[in-house]
Amino acid sequence: MRSMHFYAEAWPLHTAFVIARGSRTEAKVVVVKIEQQGMYGVGECTPYARYGESEASVMQQLAEVLPAVLQGATRQDLQRLMPAGAARNAVDSALWNLECHLNGQDLWQLSGIQAPQRVVMAQTIAIGTPEAMAFAAREQEIKGATLLKIKLDDRFIRERLVAIRAAVPRMSLIVDANESWQAKGLEERCQLLTDLGVAMLEQPLPATDDSALENFVHPLPICADESCHTSDDLVRLSRRYQMVNIKLDKTGGLTEGLKLAEQARLQGFDIMLGCMLCTSRAIAAALPLVPGARFVDLDGPTWLANDIKLGLAFACGAINL
Ligand SMILES: [Mg+2]
Repeated sequence: MRSMHFYAEAWPLHTAFVIARGSRTEAKVVVVKIEQQGMYGVGECTPYARYGESEASVMQQLAEVLPAVLQGATRQDLQRLMPAGAARNAVDSALWNLECHLNGQDLWQLSGIQAPQRVVMAQTIAIGTPEAMAFAAREQEIKGATLLKIKLDDRFIRERLVAIRAAVPRMSLIVDANESWQAKGLEERCQLLTDLGVAMLEQPLPATDDSALENFVHPLPICADESCHTSDDLVRLSRRYQMVNIKLDKTGGLTEGLKLAEQARLQGFDIMLGCMLCTSRAIAAALPLVPGARFVDLDGPTWLANDIKLGLAFACGAINL
């Protein structure tokens, strides 16, 4: 017999998180807890308005799948019972966690993937004035980060990037425009990024309008984030992007996340691993995707004023496992 509970939590941030789509001051997550044979499994997701999700819509989906979970639905069953997205991620993560506890294994053992000792990850620089962004970049470098993910919108591209590059001449930089650019002028911007030594550009164009990337010759790799949710998207993306950003809240959990990673590699995509604003619970569930990812962007919990108790060991630019 199983039981399943779910509830919402709000985790205040220490600093406002500003990206092209808006500003956040707290991480709003939904937690699923499933119990079976005296053991439990916990999963967490972050509903995302960009994908038509809210706390209420996720709670509704969880209520709908509850009877099937109580009757013993497996992770494989979930793939047809629920659409990809945050709600499925919370249940899928809880079931992985439950399986770990029932088997006396950790997630690495259960997934059959070898754990690294340390995960090198990007630290995010939120949108601000060129001076503020350059200052934040330098601060991250001093604290030990080696890779920065620069959030941009459609304004002050050159000013912001030139200021940042001057502040951190040696750091690896990737840029995320969160769909805020247009096809017009993209070529010049790609050249500017390349000239400044930016290693990758994430989602410059709206997901609904990225056909302009088809056969577009550009000097740096472009990564699909908002355009890529599950392995079903890969065929459409193959001539538009060279990399895909995998997030469990988009794939609907690690089960589909592992499938997406495998298929993406087979089809020649590089892999980036990302996250939403979340606690260590959500990051821990995604860790088996770290080996094989070219860029790891799992700094969500480092934006929280306080993470969960016994969270992951975050250092600046890294997680120590
Ligand atoms: Mg992104």
